[in-house]
Amino acid sequence: MTHTAPTAAPPTFTAPAPKVIQGTKEDWELVIGLEVHAQVASNAKLFSGASTAFGSEPNSNVAFVDAAMPGMLPVINEFCVEQAVKTGLGLRADIHLTSAFDRKNYFYPDLPQGYQISQLYHPIVGEGEVIVEMGGGTARRVRIERIHLEQDAGKSIHDMDPALSFVDFNRTGVALMEIVSRPDIRGPEEAAAYVAKLRQIMRYLGTCDGNMQNGNLRADVNVSICRPGDYERFQATGDASVLGTRCEIKNMNSMRFIQAAIDYEARRQIAIVEDGGTVTQETRLYDPDKGETRSMRSKEEAHDYRYFPCPDLLPLTIEQAWVDGIAASMPELPDAKKARFVAAYGMTDYDAGVLTAEAENAAFFEEVAGGRDGKIAANWVINELFGRLNKEGLTVADTPVSAAQLGGMLDLLRSGEITGKMAKELFEILWTEGGDPAEVAAARGLKAVTDTGAIEAALDALVAANPEQVEKARVNPRLAGWFTGQVLKATGGTADPAVVNKMVAAKLGL
Ligand code: ADP
Ligand code: MG
Repeated sequence: MTHTAPTAAPPTFTAPAPKVIQGTKEDWELVIGLEVHAQVASNAKLFSGASTAFGSEPNSNVAFVDAAMPGMLPVINEFCVEQAVKTGLGLRADIHLTSAFDRKNYFYPDLPQGYQISQLYHPIVGEGEVIVEMGGGTARRVRIERIHLEQDAGKSIHDMDPALSFVDFNRTGVALMEIVSRPDIRGPEEAAAYVAKLRQIMRYLGTCDGNMQNGNLRADVNVSICRPGDYERFQATGDASVLGTRCEIKNMNSMRFIQAAIDYEARRQIAIVEDGGTVTQETRLYDPDKGETRSMRSKEEAHDYRYFPCPDLLPLTIEQAWVDGIAASMPELPDAKKARFVAAYGMTDYDAGVLTAEAENAAFFEEVAGGRDGKIAANWVINELFGRLNKEGLTVADTPVSAAQLGGMLDLLRSGEITGKMAKELFEILWTEGGDPAEVAAARGLKAVTDTGAIEAALDALVAANPEQVEKARVNPRLAGWFTGQVLKATGGTADPAVVNKMVAAKLGL
């Protein structure tokens, strides 16, 4: 049985043009499909209660079942299942109420069981999709083939001793979600944007922290080349034989390297084909130091994993009502939030993208914008606050200026009690010293001249003394700015430029 996710229809968009590799004898296009391994955000492993804490003492988070002690039996962690279901719903995918675990057999020192428990035949999540925006109103719809749950392996350590290798089983048995895309990605930038979008969605959901440095999100990247038109034929007929032979680049954990590896791999394959050769299907590794991919194993050497259903685990059955409960508790996701920000606050698509990059950033903005001008709030949050946080390597979680403080400052600006220039000064004081915006402004003498009499007097004096400038400004209103500048100077920068501008225009009859 299948549960279809009750989510909103995808936004309308135009597909970007595929990346065409030029500077070669013929034009070539790229076809890319990704297998992303996302570590499930969970305190305990998939089949044991051992901790998943990163950076623990080697072999300190290992239960008997992780170490494959004889007679130990795996017990599924319900929370990890919930996280996979949540991720599936977030990718608008079908949730399979019945799935099953299989053994993928191979020998490696960091795999004490001698097999990995995975889901080959009956994954928990079926077909879904991700909308990957590529700028200029274009977006690529990348279809998801499946998501299955599986165990991670341990870690072999070869660089601690010249003669010995070590193993650390802390990671052994940690839950992974393998998210398999269709070959719908058409360029290196799209591949990186796709991984970024998956990461963003999972961080919104809290199902994977997306920490690529720690290896919590890594991708196997499948790359092939084809001639213009071939991909459209594949889409129309479903016949994958019109596509080129693919190579798989294993275990990439950096957006930058993903792009560089695809670019290198595409050029390598083109050179082979244009030279009259054929690409052989193989697994390759990317060497970031050399900027090259190199063969790891060919198809002939590929493992025969002798998959079979894991006899230690019953098929996994979940209830529709349980899935519905998870669906009902889903947070607002990035696409929906971004569309709402554009509609509700009248901001640009770009600004909405910046503000919704992380759920915490969006929540901060909404607290500032509540009951205030959304565009002005967006401007201050993005340019002043995020700009400053970025510069100091901080996140919104450790901002010294709270949403309430920033909002209070915007209120002073709006009521004309402080000028834009004063607001920047006040922001600086709030950042370094803190305090209530109104109190700080009063204590530091940050007060705009609201007495229009003083402005009027300065303006009258200027007009009387500069009849030629008045004439010029009447002919060319852009020259009125000179009067504004002079008035601001005369009032010592305490007048609101917007107010002065209006008074100048009125005075000169513009
Ligand atoms: P297998 O059955 O050998 O595992 P799949 O068809 O499941 O192969 O594909 C594995 C991954 O390779 C998927 O992410 C898929 O999108 C990608 N892929 C398949 N064919 C191609 C191709 N011609 N070019 C690039 N990627 C491809
Ligand atoms: Mg496959």
